[in-house]
Amino acid sequence: MTTPLFTPRLNAARARLEAFAPLAGRHYAAERNRDSGPERRDNVSLLSPYIRHRALAEHEVLAAVLQHHTPETAEKFIQEVFWRTYWKGWLQMRPQVWRSFLDECAAQRERLEHEPGLRAAVTAAEQGRTGVEGFDDWAHELVQTGYLHNHARMWFASIWIFTLQLPWTLGADFFLRHLLDADPATNTLGWRWVAGIQTPGKTYRADADNIARFSNHRFRPSGLARETHPLPAEAPPSPAPLSAPRDLPAGEPVLLLLHGDDLCGDAVLPAATRVAAVRVAAGGHTQHPWPFGAPAAEWVTCLAADAADHARHTRQCPSGVLPGLDAAALRQACVEMDLRVVATPEAPVGPVADGLERVARELAAEGIELVPLRRRWDALAWPHATHGFFRFKRQIPELLAANGLL
Ligand SMILES: Cc1cc2nc3c(=O)[nH]c(=O)nc-3n(C[C@H](O)[C@H](O)[C@H](O)COP(=O)(O)OP(=O)(O)OC[C@H]3O[C@@H](n4cnc5c(N)ncnc54)[C@H](O)[C@@H]3O)c2cc1C
Repeated sequence: MTTPLFTPRLNAARARLEAFAPLAGRHYAAERNRDSGPERRDNVSLLSPYIRHRALAEHEVLAAVLQHHTPETAEKFIQEVFWRTYWKGWLQMRPQVWRSFLDECAAQRERLEHEPGLRAAVTAAEQGRTGVEGFDDWAHELVQTGYLHNHARMWFASIWIFTLQLPWTLGADFFLRHLLDADPATNTLGWRWVAGIQTPGKTYRADADNIARFSNHRFRPSGLARETHPLPAEAPPSPAPLSAPRDLPAGEPVLLLLHGDDLCGDAVLPAATRVAAVRVAAGGHTQHPWPFGAPAAEWVTCLAADAADHARHTRQCPSGVLPGLDAAALRQACVEMDLRVVATPEAPVGPVADGLERVARELAAEGIELVPLRRRWDALAWPHATHGFFRFKRQIPELLAANGLL
């Protein structure tokens, strides 16, 4: 599937950013919660698939926005971009939350094999055949476009969990398989937040009046759950220390490995680094398959080819696309060019990070070092994601200044 909403090209990402930046101030603050349907989306940026794969970096997005607005006028938009950074940092310090999501999801999928009633209900929800107004439309929209507005994601997740009483992990999995911006941190923690697991005791309840008002009166579902009790769950774990940032061995030429978590990540390299070759991995490791669904796989493959072209021109060196994180292909490229170091932007918690870890072990056995390098944006912000977003957001002015954006 290719979707007309999101052209998988780096210059399409930049064009969208340039077109949206003038609207990221008062217009965004006043209108962003409105979901008037797929044809009327000028109230939000539609940048998430590009930001999620770092075809656009957060600092680039906010630099463009701050050319048109003061930080005060663009406060709401800036905060939304930092919500993403916050969720990424939160999960980075609690990787077991991602692993327990995967385990729980696998257990629920197993149930589908043996419980025809549950299987029929989940299939009806995914195919938009529940009879719940709005919900069925969002299920179709997600599958057809690879995108849902933030408010629709909240309504959909709430109805899935509390009205249809389906397992939340299967809903999160449905999103992961169809969203072009499908993201381990933002999706898992978004669903946990709706379910009352992320902020213990506090659920998100979808309400017919709120849906009617913010969907431009397109939908007013009846029969929604009136009471939403938080799902039983363990309290969120305490944050563990982040791994220490790595450095490249001095003076060594490198093979730069870009991947679907950071397609423009050559910014992580120190200025003097000699890049002898670039490879862009469009998928994950065979043991850690990624992207989660076919639409994103096709989309990321196109973007990866574009990223390889871009790297070839900017770095003036050979570049190519790999279907996945493949140690044998990387080893061969290193041997041909007599390289002993592969530099890569660090991938946050998720299948790409798991794949990179495995490739690092496989390459180490061949005497080649794979060095993940943390982006400055993440290194500055993640350590603050220890508590809730309201504490984190107090750091935003300092983070903007430290990134040279004020
Ligand atoms: C249940 C649920 C699941 C979600 N799953 C994902 C996901 O898999 N991937 C993903 O990128 N976002 C996810 N979100 C967050 C949010 O819905 C999308 O980022 C947003 O709708 C993207 O549209 P946009 O780019 O037009 O956003 P805009 O409103 O224009 O926001 C600008 C940018 O800020 C970030 N952002 C905006 N809202 C949020 C938010 N609530 N949380 C974190 N970051 C945000 C995104 O990077 C976005 O591109 C989820 C939210 C919920 C409630």
